[in-house]
Amino acid sequence: MQRHKKGRLFVMSGPSGVGKDTLIDLLVTRTPGIMRSVSATTRKPRATESDGRDYHFVSHAAFARDIGSNLFLEYEKYGDNFYGTPIGPVQENLDNGNDVILKIEVKGALNVRRLFPDVRLIFIAPPSVAELERRLRLRNTDTLEAVNVRMEIAQAELKQAIYYDYIVVNDILKNAVQRLECIITAERLRV
Ligand code: 5GP
Repeated sequence: MQRHKKGRLFVMSGPSGVGKDTLIDLLVTRTPGIMRSVSATTRKPRATESDGRDYHFVSHAAFARDIGSNLFLEYEKYGDNFYGTPIGPVQENLDNGNDVILKIEVKGALNVRRLFPDVRLIFIAPPSVAELERRLRLRNTDTLEAVNVRMEIAQAELKQAIYYDYIVVNDILKNAVQRLECIITAERLRV
């Protein structure tokens, strides 16, 4: 049997605070041949984040320039900031046969599906809305106002989960990662 020559594209979405970063980090470390795309954002870095690893942190002017130069596969405004997926590294990895995973919000995910109909969309859901709010407050990286904005967006996002190919509830981290590994394995076995 021949391996797929081109890599597969995966998108992971889910409300802020649901644990997407931890899940992607674990998935990418445990699964050979899958790379995480690093987005550009105009948001300021959190204390735990570093430039180039978590995001490319850029000014609004630089982001606008990159839009003008068609450097994004997709981009969206979320809260007061812009987030975009640089197209170059995604295309390069797919061409080299690596799978790529994007961590993007719902509107962006549906835009990606229009451009790449074969993309697999994975939605990460919290065990409950109350648990999500608890995790966001515990994270202690956002102001109370920012947490409230994120909770409002989250309520809207949860309703969009029906458009996804897979829904994974992040109840116990170890189990959630295992479910993600099963999805990647099954997709790689698809004819
Ligand atoms: P955060 O500020 O919590 O890191 O991200 C806020 C939201 O923006 C999250 O839902 C995250 O998945 C999304 N996001 C991150 N990068 C991108 C991107 O490149 N494009 C889009 N459309 N959303 C993104």
